[in-house]
Amino acid sequence: MSERGLLIIVSAPSGTGKTTICRKVLKACPRLEFSVSYTTRKPRPGEVDGRDYHFISEEEFKARIEKGEFVEWVVNYDNYYGTSGVDLEEKLKRGRDVMLDIEFRGAQAIKERYQDGVFVYILPPDLTELKNRLGKRGFESPMVIEKRFNQALEEIASIFWYDYVVFNDKLEEAVETLKAIYVAEKSRRSRLEHRIKEFLAREKERKLF
Ligand code: ADP
Ligand code: 5GP
Repeated sequence: MSERGLLIIVSAPSGTGKTTICRKVLKACPRLEFSVSYTTRKPRPGEVDGRDYHFISEEEFKARIEKGEFVEWVVNYDNYYGTSGVDLEEKLKRGRDVMLDIEFRGAQAIKERYQDGVFVYILPPDLTELKNRLGKRGFESPMVIEKRFNQALEEIASIFWYDYVVFNDKLEEAVETLKAIYVAEKSRRSRLEHRIKEFLAREKERKLF
């Protein structure tokens, strides 16, 4: 019997570099799968339906809320965002580890259901750099960037709720730090109970223990 998968939840103020970091970590860790959220926001250039998000209409999103499909959902920046409970459970049951890129309220809801999740907050080196990066993304007007920046200032207070903090100063260092958190959490004894039992039973049978 394989271990149940691990959940790693990553939050950050918009523009910090969370998408960039998560993509690199996912690429480097084949057992780790991305939880593709549902959203009513429009796709940005380069985003692929089913890979980055499931892009759906508000009508469809509300119908899915009615059916109780989301383990958590929020309205953020005038759009709906939600995590499918069925998709998540299916991955965990297969023994897959799952990365969720969600904001604070969603992370809190996930914690209620999955107490052993690992909660990580990513911070920019400073707020001037955050503003630069928001601009660098290139798909928002100065007014929207200002709005995102102000929301970021409010959101940063949630940092004290998280288990781990990663500063995204040098990108490669931040990627390595997030990977290290994941690898260390995978090695917790409490997550390896099945494997330890199997090891002991096998070696007892071989009369080596
Ligand atoms: P988020 O998903 O947090 O909104 P993105 O991953 O889209 O942020 O990154 C925002 C911008 O900052 C992008 O142009 C990205 O290339 C850039 N970026 C990310 N990390 C760094 C870093 N460590 N140093 C400099 N620029 C970065
Ligand atoms: P963006 O529109 O920039 O992709 O995402 C905006 C914010 O919504 C980010 O903070 C992102 O982490 C969050 N988000 C994306 N998907 C979900 C989700 O399914 N649930 C919640 N609660 N937040 C999400």
